Amino acid sequence: MSAALVDLRSDTVTRPTGSMRAAMAAAEVGDDVYGEDPTVRLLEDRVAALFGKQAALFTPTGSMANVLAVRSLVGVGEEVLCEASAHIARAELGAHAAFTGLTMRTWIGRPVEPAQIATLFAPDMGPFFVPTRAVSMENTHNFGGGAVTPLEDMRAVRRFADERGIGVHLDGARIWNAHVATGTPLEAYGATADVLAVCLSKGLGAPVGSLVVGSTDAVAEARVWRKRLGGGMRQVGVLAAAGLHALDHHVERLAEDHENARLLADACGLDPASVDTNIVVVDVPDAPGVVAAAREHGVLASAVGPRALRLVTHLDVSREDAETAARVLTKLLA
Ligand SMILES: *Cc1c(COP(=O)(O)O)cnc(C)c1O
Repeated sequence: MSAALVDLRSDTVTRPTGSMRAAMAAAEVGDDVYGEDPTVRLLEDRVAALFGKQAALFTPTGSMANVLAVRSLVGVGEEVLCEASAHIARAELGAHAAFTGLTMRTWIGRPVEPAQIATLFAPDMGPFFVPTRAVSMENTHNFGGGAVTPLEDMRAVRRFADERGIGVHLDGARIWNAHVATGTPLEAYGATADVLAVCLSKGLGAPVGSLVVGSTDAVAEARVWRKRLGGGMRQVGVLAAAGLHALDHHVERLAEDHENARLLADACGLDPASVDTNIVVVDVPDAPGVVAAAREHGVLASAVGPRALRLVTHLDVSREDAETAARVLTKLLA
């Protein structure tokens, strides 16, 4: 890709930095299916501790981490409740149904809607109805425009689940962005969920990698199912090293991405204060048309609906790049 392009399609497009590549090249490795990769173990222990949990498991993708995490709480013929545009419901191609055999029911509205969750909840009434086994939350909310789910809402879900004796899953693909945007400790987020999925390959800039984070038992079971799904990886410390490097160097800098996202929002006529993190969704009459026109001017964006233009800032978008894109978008949307 030409360096002149400003790629705002997703924060997954980042390429490993020179120092990240050096860390990867220097990584100590072993066969991780035998539990012998020291760098993977370091990463798993570190991420578990960050969220105040007992254990963590390295996975190739966030989707696999979500499948493993949700299935630690919900079995065949049981259900998880989530928001209607949640990544687990919309963007994992039915993996939870295909592999776990669970069903989903969804609420509509904000990332957490306590009244709807209470209405949807189905107790176990024997062999007549599908029982609710877990509630899933997403923070930040991808298709909700990178919105931060307030900690108070998450704590309300935790209390609700405890009262009903069900589990809580957190899709924390971008929990790092929520943490930096609000200053909420990662451990506080961790305390609201039994099991989390977190990504290193989004804003943190690692080329690959996510983790399931939870109890020793949940993670041990996830390890079995990861292998069953074909996700047992060998000398994968080279990838874990990228994640460790990202945790050292790419968390606090997410604030720059958030600042750049507000600049883009302003250029698109939105209130910058409405942007919580690194994703901007703009309502336009013809999103694919704007995407094509922006490309002509060296700016890559995506259409996530006929009228929804999405711009995502990340490690490979400098302030100067954001200013360039802002000028292009202001002109196109005028
Ligand atoms: C990206 C993402 C995931 C995981 O995606 P993969 O491409 O499978 O790594 C999960 N949840 C959310 C909210 C995401 O944005």
